[in-house]
Amino acid sequence: MALYLGIDFGTSGARCAVIDSEQKIEQSGRYDFDGATDNLPAGWRTALFTLIEQIPRPLLKQVKAIAINGTSSTVMLCSETGQPVDVPLLYNDARGAVMLNYLKPVAPPHHTVLSATSSLVKLLWMLQLPTANTARYFLHQADWLGFLLHGKIGISDYHNALKLGYDVSNLEYPQWLKNLNLPIELPTVLTPGSIVAPIKPEWVDYGFNSECVVCAGTTDSIAAFIASRALLPGEAVTSLGSTLAVKLLSHTKIDNSQYGIYSHRFPNFKPQDTQNLWLVGGASNTGGAVLRQFFSSSELENLSSQIDISQNSKLDYYPLINKGERFPINDANLQPRLEPRPSSDIEFLHGLLEGIARIEARGYELLQQLGADKLISVYTAGGGAKNQAWRQIRQRNLNVPVQASVYTEAAYGTALLAHRNKHFSA
Ligand code: ADP
Repeated sequence: MALYLGIDFGTSGARCAVIDSEQKIEQSGRYDFDGATDNLPAGWRTALFTLIEQIPRPLLKQVKAIAINGTSSTVMLCSETGQPVDVPLLYNDARGAVMLNYLKPVAPPHHTVLSATSSLVKLLWMLQLPTANTARYFLHQADWLGFLLHGKIGISDYHNALKLGYDVSNLEYPQWLKNLNLPIELPTVLTPGSIVAPIKPEWVDYGFNSECVVCAGTTDSIAAFIASRALLPGEAVTSLGSTLAVKLLSHTKIDNSQYGIYSHRFPNFKPQDTQNLWLVGGASNTGGAVLRQFFSSSELENLSSQIDISQNSKLDYYPLINKGERFPINDANLQPRLEPRPSSDIEFLHGLLEGIARIEARGYELLQQLGADKLISVYTAGGGAKNQAWRQIRQRNLNVPVQASVYTEAAYGTALLAHRNKHFSA
């Protein structure tokens, strides 16, 4: 039996999933980070080894391909031999913001690198450290972890490389970036999931088959999208977490700084479809955090089950915690609209759920107005996905089938990426 291993390095821990060729999970494992930050790469290495040790040997032997995802924009400088030369900068580290003044006149207006936490500002900041003299390569977390498995230094994928400034339309580093003449080797960028190299011999001693290959990785949020199994243009995933995020697969690339919309290139897993695919995403400030302001998890479950979903709520809410919205309405002064509050909590919750559902529908409408493919179905992830009443309310607003994703774990999405590697070359 052929098996595929996905490894997810998230914010609080690492996970793994082994799937079979029917895409079913055979084995999964987890390793929670202990919070120590004095030697992050050593902690990541331990997590990688521990996860692999948890997989029974007979399964390990059958693994044909492996892929790894890391948190987007967690980056590091490494020596010629792949040794980290200093502390990695984590995804949310904003120390690089001081480099924005230098970068603004150089990068195109509104470019994704022009953010306080982009990989490129982190790189510029790290290059000022004394240790940078001994650095040869700039790597993302997933690149370095992949290197530990395949031994080829300086390889990345176009999901991780987006915030470094890599041009994902033309598949090259843009001229403005090359003109910076950075004294460091930027990674060679491959299609996520494409084969990089066979696993290193020392891992064969560990129990892997020598024919097992290691694939180019991805980021944690794209892995979570892949986990839904959405694959076709028009298929989408709504994440109903603390905030609401929508991602729609499309033939059209959309980048719109006004609404904070941007696109990741998406590997085309359907060989008959030769056009590029794009994963177009936007994020609203509404979401589950507003619900939690008023109700506990058990109240949410209990009250939702009593909502009469055959009726539309008469309440016209725009649920926000604080003023200000970006997508699908760009208005820094938009006020939360949560009144009048009816005496019935069931009616109040109905109004909130319907308000968020209208924002979701408006978000997808905006993406389509800006040129994205027509929405055909919506998968759902996040804490709100289990709410059946909400699913039906959303389906009525969206006018397409809405379902909860069977799998939402990034490790599963990354295992699927490894499974799909056979469909394309680097
Ligand atoms: P995060 O974005 O923080 O990772 P999660 O995906 O864990 O969020 O989802 C947490 C959110 O899910 C909470 O804000 C909560 O309001 C929402 N939630 C939890 N249970 C329900 C439910 N039964 N119905 C609707 N929303 C729910």
